[in-house]
Amino acid sequence: MADREDKNAENVAGKFYVDSQCIDCDLCRETAPKNFTRADDEGYSFVYKQPESDEEREQCIEAMEGCPVEAIGNDGED
Ligand code: SF4
Repeated sequence: MADREDKNAENVAGKFYVDSQCIDCDLCRETAPKNFTRADDEGYSFVYKQPESDEEREQCIEAMEGCPVEAIGNDGED
């Protein structure tokens, strides 16, 4: 389970986030490309935009459920 106290620094404020457990596998960026991107210098993913539509929300949930190391959380705060 992702830890909101351990978010990667680049995440925008809000519900979804990636924490430091990310292994840079690319799944979330493929599944929800409007919300997840890669910190190239660091080699991990982060949420660059919170979902703004039902489609984006569904993609974020799919990414969260598919993440192999459970690095994505949906209990973040502003
Ligand atoms: S799916 Fe999980 S491990 Fe893979 S890049 Fe996204 S946050 Fe990282």
